[in-house]
Amino acid sequence: SVSSPPSDLNDRIRVCVRKRPLSKSEVERGEKDITAINGRRGIIVNEPKLKVDMTKYIEEHHYNFNEVFSEGVSNQNVYKRTAAPLVDYFFSGGKATCFAYGQTGSGKTYTMLDTENGLYIQAAKDIFEYLARDDYAHLRIYVTFYEIYLTSLFDLLNNRKKLFAREDGNQNVVIQGIREVLVDNVEDLMAVFEYGNNARSVGSTGANADSSRSHAILQILLKDSTQRRPTVHGKLSFIDLAGNERGADRGDNSSKQTRMEGAEINKSLLALKECIRALDLGKKHQPFRQSKLTQVLKDSFIGNSRACMIATVSPNISNCEHTLNTLRYADRVK
Ligand code: ADP
Ligand code: MG
Repeated sequence: SVSSPPSDLNDRIRVCVRKRPLSKSEVERGEKDITAINGRRGIIVNEPKLKVDMTKYIEEHHYNFNEVFSEGVSNQNVYKRTAAPLVDYFFSGGKATCFAYGQTGSGKTYTMLDTENGLYIQAAKDIFEYLARDDYAHLRIYVTFYEIYLTSLFDLLNNRKKLFAREDGNQNVVIQGIREVLVDNVEDLMAVFEYGNNARSVGSTGANADSSRSHAILQILLKDSTQRRPTVHGKLSFIDLAGNERGADRGDNSSKQTRMEGAEINKSLLALKECIRALDLGKKHQPFRQSKLTQVLKDSFIGNSRACMIATVSPNISNCEHTLNTLRYADRVK
């Protein structure tokens, strides 16, 4: 059947799914793609199963979202259908957040923060085009980039300085002492990002968490430079969440540290789901306090706010369980 393009681009909450291609090594191992795109909104997971008598069968799982992107869809096209409408909203003074949620290796960083075509770069291009107009000449762009590991915040633009969040009288989240860098063009912003990205993870022997265990938060702030104390007009956040498999029960073999990480990641992803849902329902009571992640994002869940979640999935058979977990979670957010 012919499906028309979804007209829900300006919905307050959008939940999309992106499937990555099979990797070279998965192809070499002979792994199959067990996922199928079904129209513009649907995805099917063909889960291989065994009956009690050991005969094989396939259990089909069907899910629908605002939009589903196949492995053939480029970052540019994902951008148009996810973050691009948020840039317009940002210029109207709103707070918009784009999340990448999924297991490690499913394409979160590739989608959000890829150094060539990540969504943040394309958003920056649009933002600086806007700013070139006369009526926006008084506005400036600032960037912050930080990481949440366990319950601590680290400033990636300032030698991983530990940061503390509090709330001002207007329910705005203030991260004390965070470095906000003024950027004048896309190249500046990319350079600032690269600088921060180098501070993000230092391999298994270093003291920092590897990127699958932390949430990375890149925020673009729109401020009025004519004011003596410039206030934030718009806030656009790109969030590369910790791998959701980290929250899974890993049995007794894991170290105490790993279990602590898993528990914290699990807690933050559950709180995130509730906060996004509450944003849609306009609920008063949202569980911001249940995790550091939702605490620092509080002002992006109240008032003029929008969110887009991109759930990223791996297509191969050995990640089937993780793929189903990701889709179930995303299904509950929408
Ligand atoms: P994650 O951040 O979720 O752990 P990555 O973004 O690092 O995963 O992606 C894992 C690997 O898959 C990387 O080598 C990345 O370049 C590749 N990849 C992910 N998504 C895509 C895609 N849509 N198209 C092509 N390659 C992709
Ligand atoms: Mg990553």
